[in-house]
Order: sequence, then C-alpha cells, then structure tokens
Amino acid sequence: MLSPARGAAPAARPNSSVPVLEQQKLLHNKAFHLINDALNLDAASNYAEAIEGYKKGGLVLKEALELHFDTDQLKESAVWTTKMRDLLKVYPAVANHCGNDETIANIVPVSKPTPAKRLAPSSSGSVGHHSASVSGATTRSTARAAATTRPGTVTGIRKKRVGTTATGGSGTTATSTSILAETKNKVSKLKNIDPKFADMILNEVLVDGASVTWSDIGESAEDYNVDTSGLSFAKQSLKEIVILPALRPELFTGLRAPAKGVLVFGPPGTGKTMLAKAVAQESKATFFSISASSLTSKFVGESEKMVRALFMIARAAQPSVIFIDEIDSILTERSENEHEASRRLKTEFLLQFDGAGTNADDRVLVMGATNRPQELDEAARRRFVKRIYIPLPEAETRRALLTKLLSGHDFCLTKNEIQQLVEQTEGYSGSDLTALAKDAALGPLRSLGETLLDTPADQVRPIQYQDFIQALYTIRPSVSPQSLLAYEEWNREYGAVSC
Ligand code: ATP
Ligand code: MG
Repeated sequence: MLSPARGAAPAARPNSSVPVLEQQKLLHNKAFHLINDALNLDAASNYAEAIEGYKKGGLVLKEALELHFDTDQLKESAVWTTKMRDLLKVYPAVANHCGNDETIANIVPVSKPTPAKRLAPSSSGSVGHHSASVSGATTRSTARAAATTRPGTVTGIRKKRVGTTATGGSGTTATSTSILAETKNKVSKLKNIDPKFADMILNEVLVDGASVTWSDIGESAEDYNVDTSGLSFAKQSLKEIVILPALRPELFTGLRAPAKGVLVFGPPGTGKTMLAKAVAQESKATFFSISASSLTSKFVGESEKMVRALFMIARAAQPSVIFIDEIDSILTERSENEHEASRRLKTEFLLQFDGAGTNADDRVLVMGATNRPQELDEAARRRFVKRIYIPLPEAETRRALLTKLLSGHDFCLTKNEIQQLVEQTEGYSGSDLTALAKDAALGPLRSLGETLLDTPADQVRPIQYQDFIQALYTIRPSVSPQSLLAYEEWNREYGAVSC
C-alpha cells in the first residue's frame, strides 16, 4: 500500500508487510527525527546539510501522506494525517532561509493554509492590549518579556507547595526540594540532553513552589457546578482536564484519556496566568512554566533547543504539565516576513507537541494561555483541544473580588456601597479591580496631606466609598467593548469544545 515518493531513502522505508497504520506511524516518526536533526543543523548554520535533512524529512512526510487507508482505518489515520499536513504548512517556510525553498516546494507541494477567520477589529485594531501585527512577533515578544519577567524567574512562579489535594487542601506530603531532586535524578538519566538547557529548566522553568491557591482567585460560586462567574466554569474544566487526571491517572484511560492540550484565553488581566499558578499547586503533576516571550527573547536562536529539552524532561518527569504563557507569541499564523527563528521554533513546537517517537500513553499536557486567541493558527487551535474562555468578571465575581481585596484592611463601606461599586465597575477586569482597590486604599493616606509623616498608623482613617469614587476617575477599564465582542465571537466559534 505504500507508494514510494521520489528520492526517499529506500533502506529506511518501512516494510510493506507492516500494517498500513503502523507504516504511517513509522514514517511520521522517521520524518520527526529527520526534521529534528535538520533543525539542529539549521540552528548551527550548517545550511547545506540542513537542506538535505529538510528534503529527506519532506519526502518521508509526503510518502506518509500518500498512504491509502481502508474506510475503517480512516478515523485512526486522520489524526496523524492532520498532524503531518500541519507540519508541512510550516515546514517549507523553515527551509526558506536556506535559499533553496524552490527545491523544497517542488518536492513537497503545499496547500495554502486556510486563512483563519479574522475578528471584528477593536478600537485599537486588535483584541487585547497588544499590537495586531503578526510579523512583529519576535520584536513584540522581546519587549513583552522585558516588561513582564523578573530576573531569576521565567514567569514569576517560584514556590510550590506539593502534595495538596484537588479540593484545595494544603496537606503537605513532600517538600519542594524532593520535586527538584526527583526531577534532577530523572534528568541525569537522560541521554542527548544539553546540560545547559537541562540546568536552566530545572532552575527556572520547573515550578518548585506555588504562590497562588484556588481560593486566591475571585469567583462567585463556591459550587463548581453553578456557572455564574465564568471562572467557576474554568476551574471545573481545569480540574477535569489537568488536576484530576494527574492525581488519579488510572481513572483517566481509554475514552477518558485526558486532552493533551488546553488553552485558556480571554481579555488581559482576567486571571489566566493566576489560574495556571493555582493549577500548579493543586495538581501533583510536575509543573513547568515558561512564557513564550521569554522563550524567544532569552534563548535567541536557541529557543527550539530549549523547547526540545523541555519536552524531554517533561516526559521523563511525567505526569507533567507544560504551561506556556502568551502562547500566541510562538504559534501565530504564518506570515510572509516571519522571522526564520520563529519558524524553526514553531516547527519544533509542533513536532514536540505531537510527541512522535514517544509513547502514546505519555502523560504530558501542554497548557497555553493567550489574550490574542485570534492570532493562533489553525494548527495550534487543533492541538489545544480544550479551549476555555476566561471572561471579564461578572457582578458576583466583582463583589467577591472587591470584598477579598478589602479584607485585611480597615474599611467602612456599607453593603449598599459595595453593591453600587459592583455596578460601577462593569467592564473592569480582575487586574483593573485590583488597581482600583489599590488606588482607593491610598485615599486615607492622601487625605492626611502634610501630616502623613507624623500620623500614627492606628489613626489613619478607614478606606471609604468616596476613595473608590475618586479612584474610578483615574482607573478606567482596560478592555474595550469592541474587543470584548471579538473575544466572545471567538469563544462561540472555538471555545470549550473538543474536535
Ligand atoms: P494577561 O492576558 O495580560 O496575561 P491574565 O489573564 O494572565 O492577563 P493575570 O496576570 O492572571 O491576568 O492577573 C493579573 C492580576 O490581576 C493578578 O495578579 C491579580 O492581582 C488580578 N486578578 C485578575 N483576575 C483575578 C481573579 N479572578 N481573582 C483575583 N485576582 C485577579
Ligand atoms: Mg497572563
């Protein structure tokens, strides 16, 4: 059934007596290794050999795509066929900068990627607070990384309390040192891993502590089955997809096998990164966290190696979760002037995500977060099978959040005033509300004027409703109504579904 492609290395071709589905997997694995090696050569500026490798990989992919399947095999084969088609869409671009794209394009005819449906532009021309330009991904990412990463951390997640229960308990059964030590031990047995990246992953990307718990995240409904806040729905979904399968792997097999990719998306400042931090604490999975922008900025020219090492370690330390914040930075739709390094990174990411050459039962979940979902390409969307919308907080969530923010402070707002605030803050995100409360909390100090330096702490007046009224003038909602509509449209089209 195997139809040989022009120029494929015959010696390595799978035996035609092998069942066709098996042949498909073998070919996919083979292409995976060839392209992986070519990416390495490419990164080392060894272009001539890289081109050879790309060509060979392309031929093998093509060969796999030409296999014929019986009707009853179509469903099973389709998964791999789609993965390989996706790869081919990125693939020739990887070879472009080698100056030989014509050759590659001739060998591997590529159908044009279907343009993803664009959303109604927001007032700023994009959903969220970022530029709508796709081509500027690398520059933008670098700037974003500089703005968001703290020295010594990759995403700012540092401390993890391990051994907690899925219901938010805090019983500690192991120390964070043991997670690090355990993972280090597993990594030491890995061959072919660059020690530089291994060290970096263990020290900066592996989450060895948690700063956020479920209860830190404002929501209206304690009962997860009552979906009034949006966040309770998100929590419930993350519990099902990420936490419970990690805690009880034996229950999540066969039809219940957990998704390999989950995406949280929504307007900026709604708690997506926070949710991931909480998931890190609640699941016993080994949790790796990195922002895509730091991948491209901190490891310039080497980010694909970092991705490869990360997946290797995650597989060795499974069950694991790889959280990639700002995933849009690496999985944007292809564009003409896309940087070559971004293409390499994207290809590597897709290869690793599909996990060719590894065990199908691997328990590695990739969790992505983005406030620019519309910029993700089709291949990325397909891999993030579960897509969870994190909306702006609704009234009840705003009340819970405001109350939480005020707790621990001296304040004198009546129930009625809090209710008014809840109404006045419609359209505010979680981070807008936090900024609002912080500004209002400064009110009592501002009112002291010159006497601030001499007033004893216990004589500072409580925070009052009027402080919030003042703060409402300066702290405005950061998400525009137009961009909100665009998120909702994307959610209607792609949200919370399996495909
Ligand atoms: P972005 O899309 O810009 O990355 P995000 O959705 O990841 O935004 P976070 O970084 O998780 O947003 O939240 C920013 C800050 O806003 C948090 O540190 C927290 O102070 C506050 N915040 C946002 N949402 C919530 C929430 N639901 N509960 C409590 N605090 C929240
Ligand atoms: Mg975030």
